[in-house]
Formats: sequence, structure tokens, C-alpha cells
Amino acid sequence: MAADATRTAMRTCPLCEAACGLELTVRDEQIVAARGDREHVFSHGFICPKGATFGQLAADPDRLRRPLVRRGDRHEEVEWDEAFRVIEAGLRPIIERHGPHAVAFYLGNPNVHTMAGGLYLAPLLRAVGSRNIFSASTVDQMPKHVSCGYLYGNPLAIPVPDLDRTDLLLVLGANPWESNGSLATAADFPGRLKAIQARGGKFVVVDPRRTRTAEHADEHLFIRPGTDAYLLFGIVHTLFAENLVDLGGLAEHVTGVAEVRELAQPFAPEQVSTACAVPAERIRGLARELAAAPTAAVYGRIGTCTVEFGTLASWLVDVVNVLTGNLDRPGGVMFPLAAHLRPRSRPGGKGFRVGRWHSRVRGLPVVKGELPVATLAEEIETTGDEQVRAFVTVAGNPVLSTPNSERLDRALRGLDFMVSVDPYLNETTRHAHVVLPPTDPARKGHYDFSFLALAVRNFAAYSPPVLPADPTDPDECDILARLTLIASGQGAATDPAVLHEGLLDLALQRVATASGRTAAELRAMVSGSQPAERLLDVALRAGAYGDGFGARPDGLSLDRLLANPHGIDLGPLQPRIPELLQTPSGKVELHAAPIAADVERLRAALDRRHDDLVLIGRRHLRSNNSWMHNVPALVKGRDRCTLQVHPADATRLALAEGDDAQITSRAGTLSARVEVTDRVMPGVVSLPHGWGHDLPGTRMSVAAAHPGVNSNVLTDEFAIDRLSGNSVLNGIPVEIKAAGNA
Ligand code: SF4
Repeated sequence: MAADATRTAMRTCPLCEAACGLELTVRDEQIVAARGDREHVFSHGFICPKGATFGQLAADPDRLRRPLVRRGDRHEEVEWDEAFRVIEAGLRPIIERHGPHAVAFYLGNPNVHTMAGGLYLAPLLRAVGSRNIFSASTVDQMPKHVSCGYLYGNPLAIPVPDLDRTDLLLVLGANPWESNGSLATAADFPGRLKAIQARGGKFVVVDPRRTRTAEHADEHLFIRPGTDAYLLFGIVHTLFAENLVDLGGLAEHVTGVAEVRELAQPFAPEQVSTACAVPAERIRGLARELAAAPTAAVYGRIGTCTVEFGTLASWLVDVVNVLTGNLDRPGGVMFPLAAHLRPRSRPGGKGFRVGRWHSRVRGLPVVKGELPVATLAEEIETTGDEQVRAFVTVAGNPVLSTPNSERLDRALRGLDFMVSVDPYLNETTRHAHVVLPPTDPARKGHYDFSFLALAVRNFAAYSPPVLPADPTDPDECDILARLTLIASGQGAATDPAVLHEGLLDLALQRVATASGRTAAELRAMVSGSQPAERLLDVALRAGAYGDGFGARPDGLSLDRLLANPHGIDLGPLQPRIPELLQTPSGKVELHAAPIAADVERLRAALDRRHDDLVLIGRRHLRSNNSWMHNVPALVKGRDRCTLQVHPADATRLALAEGDDAQITSRAGTLSARVEVTDRVMPGVVSLPHGWGHDLPGTRMSVAAAHPGVNSNVLTDEFAIDRLSGNSVLNGIPVEIKAAGNA
């Protein structure tokens, strides 16, 4: 091959929330190498092992290239038109006969990593009008949305730690050294943590496991799983008791401080210390340090969300930031302003509430338009009006990722019809009647609608497709558009351009109304060769830093991002209060009645005994949920899917390194190999999640050769955070014995 057949291309990595820039080497239209883009304005050359496999993921021979239709027990390749005809014949009669709620949706995590997910899922959901919408959000992050909804009036207004300027970072239940962060987009999170120490600051980790983040921290405190709310209330109690509360410049924008003081009364450090297993004096010390630091940020993640009091813990993270004057100030926690969004003109709004409808079987309230995924299986199994009979999954694998997954696996067998948009025949999609594979990430453009709104520094980047599209493959936006047209009764044969143009018209109408120009005028100025690019161009030009369709020539547009392949830096985060507040009062509302009611439940639980052995999850650098276990470079080496057991517990249970242990919870039983380690605290055992690739009917040969065990066989669909409906995935009571003693 001639040397000039080799080229480089820049691409934002879509494999986790960190949004690193990649420099890809393309030879003969194959990606042969991926390394960090050293000129990238946000990641500065950082890359992790997952990003380095970008090309392998795209070229995976198990990746589906054509749609599959299930015939008997087998899935057979068909042409795209035939696949959509089968969907129309399967889905429409169910909607017509049983109504829209008979169709359930599950939207997996990868949707927030694609432009199609950001732009085309909402129209699809609207076209069906089902109340049975489920997503990965009620597996891992709904408590944060709910607490921010009450505090700021907008569940998407999530403050992120200002990592690059803070003096003190308190990390609860997060392992960004391996995950690279979540609900806080920070390429090279480890480097940013080291920089805190290098400039004389420090970071403290609170976690039931000595994670890699904890190893690098200035201090690690073990905490009993699920008790972060107690620790945080102990800090709040101390702040009030020792007159350390100082809201700083935020004081005039906050209500409910007196009510929080009242709520914190029962949670003095001595009262909560036994429950959370953190010494009372250390709880006091943390409060004093947070109050005294020039700037400080409290950051809580998975371990604070996926627990019984997840919303309270998430709320308390922000309460501590408010009470120490660290909300919305440099070095504290701040609200990013993404380039595709606009600041609001004035504070105030309708506020946030849950429960506009409830799930049919268990009566759980809808939150942010979604029902808890913990109730999905029973909605399929339970007969009656509005029973779920059809199921659409988009980029999700709930058979591995949701609680009591064996029950859901059984329930899916009873569906009348199932469609999956997914590149793999995996543990979930093997049940689908039709599988529609989106094209690989190298053949589509990328802009992070979700993560630029969570970035610890404002920046914007767009990556055009690296490889040319296969002309016979529809774009992912086309796939979702055709599903939308089928669902709305316009037919499988309708050109998806009808929807693309409709969405563009709608976007232009909105901008035109605000700008005093006509949509036709603006339409003539729109750039982009793909539907998603055109929608992005409109959002950027009307956005916070946009060119206003020519009104501000130096502003952002799609063309400007295309001309800057390493991204455009938009500067450090800026204060956004009061503009972003959408509460009825136009202030940060610390007190909300549902939160206060749950505090009483938390107080009552203080008296619980803590002698159960409890299970927690864990995250590895070379894993991201269940997504990437079919990439050889990411699964090679020693088996990581082990049950970590503290030496004292191992002795008590007569378990030795390498034994097979039988683990039993209310929901199920499985066996895993024991790893004896003092990385976990006594009374706590840990299994990683996303594994269990040994089910029949899948086509993921590498994953099947490294199956591991599915920790969600043990998690319980009846254990949820009451305020958000989020599943409890950490702190599951289990019994353990040597497998030979079963
Ligand atoms: S940290 Fe995340 S975004 Fe960065 S290279 Fe790794 S997987 Fe990609």
C-alpha cells in the first residue's frame, strides 16, 4: 500500500463520559491505531486503555452489519426494508389493539454517547406515547436528577466539581481513577486529582473499598455501604452546631436553611457514627476542613446513588456545598454551560415534581418521564389492561444491567414482539424479533450533547465521520426515524427524510421566533451534510456562544467546529446563579416536602442492626458496564470477575483464595471465585458488574470466552430508593458459603 494511503483523523472518544480527543491512524480505510490527541483543548493527549481500542471496537467481526429477524430459535440476516416491514407488521397491531402503553422502551447508557440518541429518541417516544419508558438512569443516576430537580427546579442542572481550581475535594462512592468520572466530564480525571495535590490541596475518598482512587488520595475512609446520607448529615449537623455555615455570596439566592438545620438535628456525629462506621471525630473534622478550605467541593457518585437513601445522599452532597459557600463559585461546584444550550433570561419556573402517573403493577411514581426499571419485569408478566406486550430496546442490555436480571430474562420470553437497535446479539437482544444494528462509531459524526453539559471546563468539539458510510447502511438517525414513522402510522416505506426535515423545521421555527427572523431565512444558512449535523448547526448557532446566524461572526457554528478538530476551549466555568434556577421561588430551595419526609425514614433506620454481609459492585479501568467485553485487549489477563472478601470474613466463612463461593440473596444465587483482600472493609464483599456472558443464543465470541458472573442475579428488584425509584445495587444483604458446601 502506498504511504499516502495513511492519514490521521481526530475523533472524540465516545466510550465513556470523559470526552477525550483521539488521534486515529487510518490506513486503507481501516483504523489501525488510536492515541490521545495531544492538541485537544480538554484532554491534552490523555487516553485510557478503552479509548486505545476504538479501532478494534469498530472492526469487531461479531458486530452486526445487517439486520436480523428471528425465525424460530434462530436469527437470520435480512435486508433493511424487510426488517422494517417485519417491525411494522409486529408493532402496529399491538399499538392499535392494546394502546400505546402496551409498548415499553428501554434506553441504554450508550444513547448519551451518540448524536442519534440525543436527537431522535425523543421523537420516537413521542410518536408512541407510552407511559412505559425505562432507562439506565434508574439503575445509576436518578437520585442526582431528583435532588437537583428539587434544589434547582431542573433535574438536568447538575453542578460538577471545579476540579482544576479546588483546594479540597471530598469524593464519596466514586472511583474516577478507573471510571474517569461520571456526571462530571473530566478527561484525565486522575491527572486533575494529582494537580490538586501538586498545588497544595488535597482529596479525600470515602468508600467501602480501597479503590485505586482511594490509594492515591490524601486520606481514605471506609464507610458502610449505603450510609453516606448519615455521614453527610453528620457533617451538616456539625456545620450548624459549630457555627460554620457560611453561604457567602449565595445567601440571597437560597431558601430553606433553617429547615435543613432542623432536619439535621437527630444526626449528630455520635448518633450516626455507628451506622456509617466513620468515627464521630473524623466526621466533625471533615466538616471543619470543608468550612475552612479556601475552596472545597463534595462529589458523590455511584455509591451514593445506588442505595436505599440515594436521593437523600445526593441532596446532602449539594447541601454541604451550599452551606460551606462552595456552590456556584470557582473552586467549588459549578454549572457548565454547553455550546448547544442557551442561558435563561431570568430565574424562576414551574419547579420539579414526580408522579404525574404511576406504574400499573406496583404503583411507583414516574420520575422525569421514566418509570423505575426495577418494575419492568412485572409490567411484562402481569396480565391486564395496558400490560406490556411489545418492547423496544435502544443500545441497552438490561438482562445484565438491571436488578433480578434472571426474572427479566424470563419475562422477555413472554413478549409478543421485541425490537432492538443494537450492534450485538447479546444477552438481551437475543430475545428480539428484529435487531437493527447501527453503523460503527467510526462512520458517524460525534458531538456530546450530554457530556458537554457536565464538563468541568466549557469546551466544544465536533468529529465528522472518520470512515465513509456504507451506502447500503442507513445512518443511525435514519433507523430511529424509520421506527418513529412506523410507530406513528406513517408506514415502513416512508422516506426518513420526512422526519429529518420536520425536526429541522421545528428547530428553526423555535430560533426564528426568538430572533425575529423567518425560518426560511435561517434555513438557507444551515450547514451540514447529515441530518444530525444540520440540527447541531442550528443548536450551536443559537447557543450560548453561537454566531446567531451571522449576528456574531466570531461565534460558534458547525463550520467553525469542523475547522477546529482539536476542539474549542470556552474557558473555565462561570457562576450561573440565579439565571439557571427554575424553582418557583427563583432560588435554590434547600427544603422540599418529599425530601423532608424521607429524612424521617432515614432517622428511623438509624436503629437498624448492621450484622449482615453486604454486596457492593466495583469498576475496572478496562471495563464499562457490559459494553466492551467483546474486545480482546480489554478482557485479556487474569480473571477480574472475582468476589472480594475481607480476610476476617474469609476466615469466619472458611473461604480461601481461589475457592468457589456460593452467594445467595433474596433474588438469586450464583457462584464466584474468591479473592481474599483487605481492599474491602469487613462485612462487605464486592463483585464487578456487567458480566455473565454465558447465556445461549448470543453472538459475542470473545465475551463468551470470558463470561464472568452476572452480579445482577443477586440484586433485588424490590429494593429501590423511594424518592427516585433508582435500584439499590450496593449494600445487598447476602449469605456466602463455600460452593462445595451447597
Ligand atoms: S477515558 Fe473515556 S473518553 Fe477517555 S479515552 Fe478512555 S474511554 Fe475514551
